Amino acid sequence: MASQPTIFDRILDGEIPCHKVYEDDDVLAFLDIGPLSTGHTLVIPKERKAFLHELSDEQSAALGRVLPRLARAVMQATGTEAYNVLQNNGATAGQAVFHVHFHIIPRPSRSADGDGTGLAVTWKPGSLDGEAGRTLAAAIAAAL
Ligand code: 5GP
Repeated sequence: MASQPTIFDRILDGEIPCHKVYEDDDVLAFLDIGPLSTGHTLVIPKERKAFLHELSDEQSAALGRVLPRLARAVMQATGTEAYNVLQNNGATAGQAVFHVHFHIIPRPSRSADGDGTGLAVTWKPGSLDGEAGRTLAAAIAAAL
């Protein structure tokens, strides 16, 4: 069964306006409507897939080709030097719109109470056992 069109499909179809910053045959980039910081940009493939792992090699390559260029342009236009590229897959990972998208989120200079984005990149590293690591790496490699 075909999935319901997402808000991004409707933007691609021109039904809903956006502040477009880039478009080619495979990719569209536009400003996020709820920016975490000035310049927060979304980069989407035109292929209608919910998750990164569903994308074709061609669309993946098209995204990879333009992401660094877009990041450079966002930084230049906003005068920022630091940024996060965020890409959520699945509700558990914080995905709200089920059409693949990359966030480019400028991170203005730090102040005592952070940079105002509310975006926290913190994690609790575990440890990787040698034998478990060998088994897991082999399982992932075999699934490729
Ligand atoms: P997610 O949580 O799925 O990774 O992020 C979805 C993003 O899409 C959010 O940052 C949200 O602000 C943005 N968004 C949702 N609806 C619209 C819309 O209609 N237009 C634009 N430009 N951005 C949207």
